[in-house]
Amino acid sequence: MKFAGNILKMRTSLKNGLVDYFLPIGNDLIYVNELIGKNIKLNYNGNINCINCGRKISKTYFQGYCYNCFISLPETDEGILRPELCKAHLGISRDMEWAKQNCLQPHYVYLALSSDVKVGVTRATQVPTRWIDQGASQAIKFAQTPNRYIAGLIEVALKKIMRDKTNWRKMLTNKIATDVNLIFEKQKAVFSLSDELRQYIENDNDVTTINYPVIKYPEKVKSLSFDKQSEINKKLIGIKGQYLIFDDSMVLNIRKHNGYFVEVG
Ligand SMILES: [Zn+2]
Repeated sequence: MKFAGNILKMRTSLKNGLVDYFLPIGNDLIYVNELIGKNIKLNYNGNINCINCGRKISKTYFQGYCYNCFISLPETDEGILRPELCKAHLGISRDMEWAKQNCLQPHYVYLALSSDVKVGVTRATQVPTRWIDQGASQAIKFAQTPNRYIAGLIEVALKKIMRDKTNWRKMLTNKIATDVNLIFEKQKAVFSLSDELRQYIENDNDVTTINYPVIKYPEKVKSLSFDKQSEINKKLIGIKGQYLIFDDSMVLNIRKHNGYFVEVG
């Protein structure tokens, strides 16, 4: 097997509670699950191309974009990282057509268990992709809103009682809080909302459980970067979130290397 091309974050599908991972590389898709337990060689040749315009760049912004795209595209605007700053509902966006398709669409506020309980926001169509990308073991829908902004307001309210970031070290070593009941966490969190925001609470209390293809979790992890090391030649022992986990406790965040030209053999 030999592939070469610009890589993008792994695509995923959830089948019977287990995640399948596919790595886009050039025009190909590598089924990564079947490489687990094997030695893999990844070689970064020093080239990066913007994942939007294709321009050759030496560093990326917002995980894969050139600076020009970063400061002009709607998908890299501040309302994407911080939904409460989205202004699409006021008719303000870098690209209103894009905003109609993306920001002014149903969103979920969710609670996920990746190490501890955290809150997050995602477009409704991105469930469960978003949960998988974050390495969540369990997730529950908390609220459904008609747009990104209101979801952001709910997230801000919940940030007072829980984190909004994944602790990636704990996630990758599988140090997950036990005795967490997401339905109970959801019931508790409702009290943090104003009456106005409570109307958006989601009735669906299904808890989605997600299992990752990992042979053995490392005790502690250290992250690899193609910026520091162009060749990786190691045994793959698992995949979780957007990370490849190797047998020497090193991990590689694929998403951080969006647009990097890599040879896989
Ligand atoms: Zn660009």
